[in-house]
Amino acid sequence: MELEKKKWGFQGNTELNSASISVRGVMNMLMGNISKDDNRPIIPLARTDPSTFACFRTTAVAPDAVAKAVQSFEFNCYAPSLGVASAKRAIAEHLSKGLSYQLSPDHVCITAGCTQAIEIILSVLACPGANILLPRPGYPQYEARAAFSKLEARHFDLLPEKAWEVDLDAVEALADHNTVAMVIINPTNPCGSVFTFQHLKKIAETAKKLGIFVISDEVYAGQAFGSNPFVAMAEFASIVPVMTLGSLSKQWVVPGWRIGWIVASDPNGILQQSGVMECITSYVEMSSDPPTFLQVALPQILGKTRSGFFSNILNILREDAQICYDGIKEIGCLTCPHQPEGSMTVMVKLNLSLLEGISDDMDFCLKLAKEESVTVLPGFVVGLKNWLRITFAIDPSSLDDGLKRIKAFYERHAKKL
Ligand SMILES: *Cc1c(COP(=O)(O)O)cnc(C)c1O
Repeated sequence: MELEKKKWGFQGNTELNSASISVRGVMNMLMGNISKDDNRPIIPLARTDPSTFACFRTTAVAPDAVAKAVQSFEFNCYAPSLGVASAKRAIAEHLSKGLSYQLSPDHVCITAGCTQAIEIILSVLACPGANILLPRPGYPQYEARAAFSKLEARHFDLLPEKAWEVDLDAVEALADHNTVAMVIINPTNPCGSVFTFQHLKKIAETAKKLGIFVISDEVYAGQAFGSNPFVAMAEFASIVPVMTLGSLSKQWVVPGWRIGWIVASDPNGILQQSGVMECITSYVEMSSDPPTFLQVALPQILGKTRSGFFSNILNILREDAQICYDGIKEIGCLTCPHQPEGSMTVMVKLNLSLLEGISDDMDFCLKLAKEESVTVLPGFVVGLKNWLRITFAIDPSSLDDGLKRIKAFYERHAKKL
């Protein structure tokens, strides 16, 4: 076997080792641990994909637009590298709503989901010696991509006692002249928090002072159901250049469609001078694009979706967040420092000293999967060891069931005092 490998010269890209922690990898381990003898339905609180639940079904506007585009036979062609013109225009218009200036379609790149947007932007930024500032807890795609591109990741904390706001002192302490950008996710995955206007403005001012631009992952744009309204980071682009990343995946609940975008918000022309859009163009010219017919459907999807669709999703998420927060309070070994008010996930702290025979967050999740058929993501995957990330975006009665099972699990494993 070794000889064969040598003969064909296959070694494997060693950078893949450093990039190997993934939500999917851990998910597969959890699913593999679920007992086949348990006849109850599996409650999926680890992966953020509510599309299989009837109450999260996408609006009919979306498949109708896609079907029309496919059936016209006009869009079997390749798409332009940065995306179909009408789709880029639609994204620029859509994201300009609520902004005090107009975004340019020339600053839009259509991507295969937000995942490819992350891939593109981190690849483009990874010049030798560069570093990037990432939130902790965060979204592990950023770490994996940075590692694979040899872009040094430095972490600033989100502060649970301050509604998971960015530790801006840490951002200043971490940055140096090789820092290219900082990443924020708002509404936050994994914390379920929503940054205030004032906090976003402070982030912009800090980044300006450091001479770095802000990458704002807004894959949950608009999914704020608490007291803080969602504010787009692009609103502060006159202070600091902003690259906004987004997709249809969470907002339209079609993560399998793989449609996302990168938008440069740049009223002062700083990004344009820096040549970022040219670099993005060079990158996408050697990669693949999302299907042309899906891009062609975007103007209809973005333009024709009724507000009732979004308010309905928001109402379910608000109800879920409350069920989740109340349920966690009943489980002695878990504490939730901040009631979720946005996105689809929340971080809860695991108190291992109250448990018997559970060594860490991964052990907790593996045993929970085995005994209760409930999957929850161990916190180490998102940067916080011995925490858990719970995805509450499922149908409310299943969520309630899942929390009751976690409670039963805790009671069985609680340390006898
Ligand atoms: C789900 C998610 C993504 C990936 O989105 P896709 O469009 O499915 O690729 C990116 N960032 C965050 C924070 C997410 O939660």
